[in-house]
Amino acid sequence: MKPEFEIVVVGGGLVGSLLTHSLSRAGFKVALIEKGDQQKRTFHTGRAFALSLASCNYLKALGFVDILEQYGNPIKGVIVTEGEAGKGSREGILEFMPSEIGEESFGCMIQEENLLEAVGERLKKNKAVRIFSKTAVEDAVFDDGSLIVNLSKGKSIPTELLAICDGSQSNLGSRLGYSYIKKNYRQRAITCTVRHEKSNEGLAYQFFMPTGPIAFLPLSDHSVCIVWTNTQKVVNRLDQLDNDQFLEELRPAFGTFLGDISLEGPRGSWSLELSMARKMVSARFALLGDAVRKIHPLAGQGLNLGLRDAAVFLEIVETAKYRGEDIGFPTVLERYQRWRMFDSVSFAAATDFFNWAYTSSIPGNQLVRQLGTGIISNITPLKGYLIREAAGLSGDIPELMKNR
Ligand SMILES: Cc1cc2nc3c(=O)[nH]c(=O)nc-3n(C[C@H](O)[C@H](O)[C@H](O)COP(=O)(O)OP(=O)(O)OC[C@H]3O[C@@H](n4cnc5c(N)ncnc54)[C@H](O)[C@@H]3O)c2cc1C
Repeated sequence: MKPEFEIVVVGGGLVGSLLTHSLSRAGFKVALIEKGDQQKRTFHTGRAFALSLASCNYLKALGFVDILEQYGNPIKGVIVTEGEAGKGSREGILEFMPSEIGEESFGCMIQEENLLEAVGERLKKNKAVRIFSKTAVEDAVFDDGSLIVNLSKGKSIPTELLAICDGSQSNLGSRLGYSYIKKNYRQRAITCTVRHEKSNEGLAYQFFMPTGPIAFLPLSDHSVCIVWTNTQKVVNRLDQLDNDQFLEELRPAFGTFLGDISLEGPRGSWSLELSMARKMVSARFALLGDAVRKIHPLAGQGLNLGLRDAAVFLEIVETAKYRGEDIGFPTVLERYQRWRMFDSVSFAAATDFFNWAYTSSIPGNQLVRQLGTGIISNITPLKGYLIREAAGLSGDIPELMKNR
């Protein structure tokens, strides 16, 4: 007999929730298990996401056009510069404009709380999805060829396929035998909203400082979300400051290019590490999102990669079902891994390299950086390739992420 749920999704973060929503729209019988409160997905983190054009296309295809229109703010260009401790940024080094690839923006900025709440609300209204809230998946075992998912409340559910979207700690992945390459960056990032006097003109700025990058991501004409990376020691100290004291510490790093600044809303802080699963699938299991790889946020790509996992996964299992194949069969799931593995590894390696290149003080490093910058600025096809990568428009794009 066929199990009640063809696919069980573990983890109601953005990747798991959107995957669940897309699977049910495609006609799959699906259950979502979230250990937190899935009925109340509002977190005030001071964090916002840079969504690539491909991710915006994905959200539009899933019916979130209104949310992007209401909360999204277009990113009209990216400026990358080096900075000096206590002195703010230097002159602009690299400029990336979407017009270089015939687009008007790179995608949009959206605050985490707005996106999470909208996705959570939409999922609640989707009566075809069964949600197990405040319930953790403890393990999954094979019984006479079927996969049985064991939940914290003593319940067990059989399924054909378990989609593991349980985030960067992916305890479930580790418990099921997946191994990870890990590196602790010994850095933390602070996120918050900063209001500023002059217009940012929709531009995002990334200043590479010796202790880590600081990004200014446009939320509106006169406000940015900052992602300020620094050593663990410094961030632990900054976390203890009140808003006025924090602002005084932020000013030299922020500089004066946007005029006077003030803080708005809460501050969040995050520990940073690299974590990369050595494989993404095995019989009846697939990893997606941060459960596959957690990367340095300097390129703002972690969620974009996770949404691409979800879009590819849907396409693979939908095609397999249409052909009458077993969706949990290794040969089916390996198609998903082949499509996504290279992208995962290359982004993890690139962000790791950039963080190292700008924070390491080995002799000659600055010269190498300047050389690299010169090469990128002057070789048009290379720059165009990097811009398309940032917009999520390179490589084999899954259907849901294509421009329509
Ligand atoms: C400072 C910072 C800035 C960032 N900025 C950007 C950006 O601009 N653009 C971008 O694309 N990315 C960005 N990222 C990356 C992005 O935040 C992550 O890639 C994304 O949130 C991962 O989503 P996820 O759904 O895979 O995992 P998570 O959001 O971690 O969700 C995992 C879920 O699984 C649940 N769970 C865990 N274990 C179990 C279990 N056993 N049973 C049931 N449920 C379980 C958890 O409760 C959680 O709800 C940033 C990251 C940081 C740290």
